[in-house]
Amino acid sequence: MDGWGREIKSLRVSVTDKCNFRCRYCMPAEGLEWLGRDEILSFEEIARIVRVLAAMGVSEIRLTGGEPLARRDLPVLVSMLAETPGVEDLSLTTNGVLLDRYAAPLVEAGLRRLNVSLDSLSHVRFAEITRRDALDRVLAGLEAAERHPELRPIKVNCVAIRGFTEEEVPALAELARRKPYVIRFIEFMPLDAEERWAGDDVLTGGEIRALIEEHWPLEEIAAKTSSTARRFRFADGAGEIGFVNPVSEPFCSSCDRIRLTADGQLRTCLFSRREWDLKAPIRDGAGDKELGELVRWAVRHKELKHRINDEGFVRASRSMSQIGG
Ligand code: SAM
Ligand code: SF4
Repeated sequence: MDGWGREIKSLRVSVTDKCNFRCRYCMPAEGLEWLGRDEILSFEEIARIVRVLAAMGVSEIRLTGGEPLARRDLPVLVSMLAETPGVEDLSLTTNGVLLDRYAAPLVEAGLRRLNVSLDSLSHVRFAEITRRDALDRVLAGLEAAERHPELRPIKVNCVAIRGFTEEEVPALAELARRKPYVIRFIEFMPLDAEERWAGDDVLTGGEIRALIEEHWPLEEIAAKTSSTARRFRFADGAGEIGFVNPVSEPFCSSCDRIRLTADGQLRTCLFSRREWDLKAPIRDGAGDKELGELVRWAVRHKELKHRINDEGFVRASRSMSQIGG
């Protein structure tokens, strides 16, 4: 339980800060300064932290990065975590470019849920936003995931940026009607490494919803209180769309999540300016009880809310790919 009475149920684990894409809203073209191999937690260290947290009530684990499939042998970690007592929900967020190779071993290792990032269905515009000509490989990855009925729902995440995403909305909505994918539009947040974000760049969920309703009426579906997304179905019953609106409709009051960076720092908010080191104590021989106490202390200090919309907002101490989005 954090200091504001919120129960923490969910942990996002970044397995690497490296990535094979360079999405404009996340990373610069030349990449970032990557962490050294020794700085990154081993699978055993990650599994140990997850075990300690799961014993304290964290039941949802999502693997992310950087690009998590760029970390060698990721299915080995998935199987270690899938077997951890208390872990009820294990999922992965990926850019999808290596998914056609990894879908089968991931399912075999115990993965049951998947989010794939996809901002455009046009080859030219996909390459413009990710700086990689990889749309066909991502679509092949999605098809590979579809062949595994254990992996449902397949969520497709699109970062909504004014001046870019409007044009993508009809094709993405149509994809949600045609495929077993829940397409989710996520408002652009000030977590880009190049610090170019401006409030006017945020294309809100409300605006996208209006664009979709020009073609197809939507009906809201009740979502869990801890859900970050507002869910809608098409009125004619074909498919589902979601909106994650952290900027225009902040959901901090029901936030149930904390994050572990690839270098073993616990973060209690995407926008934290402060991190809690778990790696040094682990490597210095701390016991599970001591680690548990450290986590309790960090969680007690979880931020009340982000302050993106406040005067004098100060950016987070690291960018999205370094935190683990
Ligand atoms: N590389 C993987 C991927 O792209 O799915 C996982 C890591 S990525 C940092 C996780 C999610 O954060 C992706 O869905 C990505 O689109 C989203 N993201 C990155 N930068 C963002 C930003 N500035 N605002 C909102 N979402 C962002
Ligand atoms: Fe890589 Fe994901 Fe960031 Fe794109 S959003 S650069 S795929 S970490």
